[in-house]
Amino acid sequence: MGLGRGQHAQLPDPAREGEGVPRRPRGPGGARGRQAARARPAHPRRGRGLAGPPRVGAARPRGPRPAGRRGRAPRPARARAPVRRPLSVTTGPGPSSGTGQLRRANTAVVLQSLRRRGPASRAELAQRTGLAKATVGAIVADLEEAGAVVEEAPAQPARGRPSRPVALRPGAHLGLGLELNVDYVSAVVVDLAGAVLASESRAAGEDRVEVLLALAAELRATHPGPLLGATVAVPALVRDDDRTVAWAPNLPLHGDGLVAHLAAALGCEVRVVNDANCAAYAEAHHGAARGVDHALYLTGTVGIGAGIVVGGQLVQGAAGFAGEVGHMPVGDPTAPCGCGRRGCWEASIGLHAVLEAVGMPELDTPVTTAEAVAARAADDPAARATVERVGRDLGLGLAILSGVLDPAVVVLGGYFVPLGDLVLEPARRVLDARLASEVQVRPELRLGTLGLRAAALGAAEQSLARVLAGEADLADLGDLGDLAVRG
Ligand SMILES: [Zn+2]
Repeated sequence: MGLGRGQHAQLPDPAREGEGVPRRPRGPGGARGRQAARARPAHPRRGRGLAGPPRVGAARPRGPRPAGRRGRAPRPARARAPVRRPLSVTTGPGPSSGTGQLRRANTAVVLQSLRRRGPASRAELAQRTGLAKATVGAIVADLEEAGAVVEEAPAQPARGRPSRPVALRPGAHLGLGLELNVDYVSAVVVDLAGAVLASESRAAGEDRVEVLLALAAELRATHPGPLLGATVAVPALVRDDDRTVAWAPNLPLHGDGLVAHLAAALGCEVRVVNDANCAAYAEAHHGAARGVDHALYLTGTVGIGAGIVVGGQLVQGAAGFAGEVGHMPVGDPTAPCGCGRRGCWEASIGLHAVLEAVGMPELDTPVTTAEAVAARAADDPAARATVERVGRDLGLGLAILSGVLDPAVVVLGGYFVPLGDLVLEPARRVLDARLASEVQVRPELRLGTLGLRAAALGAAEQSLARVLAGEADLADLGDLGDLAVRG
């Protein structure tokens, strides 16, 4: 599935972060930017939109699909779709004025440089970022005050005065990533430097929300630093308010009840994001697709969804729902799907479809279940034949997606990982047979390296995104009272 709204999903690309177009303060905003940096947007929860730098196409009206059951209700024409709140609108002076934006954007450039390239003196930071030394000095002072950076021991240069490198303070500001899935939940804590401080998955059933909250509470108990936010990844289409679940065929989720419940329990801002996009983002920045310009990620759980990453950024589609591939008509046309139709791709290659075909029970998580299936397939020709059939159907859908997207790498996550070559080999054969021309290069099929934590890790990164994209002030976000969503 695709998730993401263009707005929030435009996270900085760690492979490219920092060192973008230098943003030199102009006019009086430069030296006085420190005060502006502390100013908060007129409406805190709109800060991301108001403060964000202009993006091509960002203000395009987005038309969420109807919330009706099983997605079968007639879809409104795009023109009737609600227009997302205006972006990048700055009228007149005030906390969301251009100076504040510029300040946040420059702060983000410094944070990204420290994150990607490590500690540096103020002079080095100025050199790296193209910002004026005075601007860097003011930003670093603010970040020190917020507890986000520390000065390391001075390095003695061959000549001149010793410089004091500035570094991101480990564990100082945290992003909490959660995943709510059909049969398991996960939680990940990352810090602003991208270090994974905690990561855990747990089996869950109908009590999944409470299991998830208990897991989150455990991780918070051991990592109590200030939260910049929490993001929960769900196998669902989520509206572009980042809180309303529009369609979740495999979970009893609808509306904004989940985000309200989690926000009340966690005491911080909570956003809801599609799981495949979270996992794709994590694999592109921390895992198997790192450094790949055109990558496609495929989830492998009960549902099948995709995340498309181009140049380190998620491809969203017009309504933010790009990647909703699980219900493409591929595979056994008679297989019943959780969406109510027959013949969907995930009805042939989703975890439940595989288990039904091999006659095995579901275990704690998709990964442990698939490990058992792989072990069975090693000895049981019937089970092996079933898994090969899954691989062929996987390849069939990938052939379609490759024809559309031409990815260099396809990363297969979730339950596909333990099955490995059992599914990859038949998928490769089908892909080779289906690519229309010999000049087309078959995408490289890779297994995800982040395991079940991929979606939660991507969600955790999303929780940091506003600060790293220069769309929110770190000090404001760290002040939980202001941005907590009160359900
Ligand atoms: Zn379906």
